[in-house]
Amino acid sequence: MSGPQPKPGIMDIAPYVGGESHVDGVARVIRLASNETPLGPSPKAIAAYKKLAGELHRYPDGGAEALRTAIAEQWNLDRDHVVCSSGSDEIISLLARAYAGPADEILFSEHGFLMYSIASLAAGAAPKKAPESHLKLDVDAVLGAVTPQTRLVFVANPNNPTGTYLTRAELERLHGELRDDILLVVDAAYAEYADQNDYTSGVELATTQSNVLMLRTFSKIYGLAALRLGWAYGPKSVIDVLHRVRGPFNVNQAAQAAGMAAVRDRAHVAKAKAHNDKWRQWLGEKLGEIGLEITPSIGNFVLARFPGGLEMALAAADHLRRAGILVRGMVAYGLPDSLRITVGLEDENVALLDALIEFME
Ligand SMILES: *Cc1c(COP(=O)(O)O)cnc(C)c1O
Repeated sequence: MSGPQPKPGIMDIAPYVGGESHVDGVARVIRLASNETPLGPSPKAIAAYKKLAGELHRYPDGGAEALRTAIAEQWNLDRDHVVCSSGSDEIISLLARAYAGPADEILFSEHGFLMYSIASLAAGAAPKKAPESHLKLDVDAVLGAVTPQTRLVFVANPNNPTGTYLTRAELERLHGELRDDILLVVDAAYAEYADQNDYTSGVELATTQSNVLMLRTFSKIYGLAALRLGWAYGPKSVIDVLHRVRGPFNVNQAAQAAGMAAVRDRAHVAKAKAHNDKWRQWLGEKLGEIGLEITPSIGNFVLARFPGGLEMALAAADHLRRAGILVRGMVAYGLPDSLRITVGLEDENVALLDALIEFME
């Protein structure tokens, strides 16, 4: 061994591979691999972004004051309990680095979001997975996997890539039985798509408890994935830690301006949700009818299991790619026989179904 060596754990990281976005020789690719909104952002957000072109030589507002104010108004929260970030991925990494290190453990469920594992290893901590039951987080399994070394528990609600969710009662029970020195992080990246009466983004616990943090993103329903914008809400003590470890200008000014406009455009969000409600149900029904097993999802995507296992799932993804349609393979998530399919525009969903019908024949 010669030359600089990274800290233990770093070389164990399997680099995050995002959804594909291009197919050689196909002009109009149908992108259903990254849970982006097919409607795009609010036109008001695009206008706010364009207006910034003349200001590129200026540093952004390091405290993201106006954006935090807009977020706090929209959700009726205390602005001082909100911190903004370059995507919610940044907060996941900052939390791992600030609260865990060598000899510590970070806990999440079996098919939890890949960034939890990457952030844990990057911080030198050990990622630990609790088994799920029926592709859903099992509260008892998570509690059973807690050790004296556990520092953080990540729960995506709903979870990506399964689309399943913990009810308010289940989340409260999980929190109630966790030690109070363990930070429970509720990653509610898809909260705007959820309207089930028993669903919670974790906002109530993040308001009242000293060890619960809620994460949100502008990458999904708000359609600003390219700008990288997320935020966290929770107890002042945790927000204070995040302010200390974040970069001084971690959120660029274009993201702040577009985010402010996006958060205020409730009509656009409602339109995106209505579109998703309709087409997620349609996809679930139609894909079920052609012999795929669909996990009930409350996000903007469905998880489809192929009866012929990994080989069949890979062949289906290849078939779709040849038709110019990109979906997400699930090998890295421990679901090799499945593909995750984002809800698209009407013609995109129809094209996907047609291509899969052809494949299944
Ligand atoms: C998409 C997603 C995020 C958001 O990531 P950004 O960094 O904000 O783009 C966070 N958590 C989960 C579970 C996601 O699926």
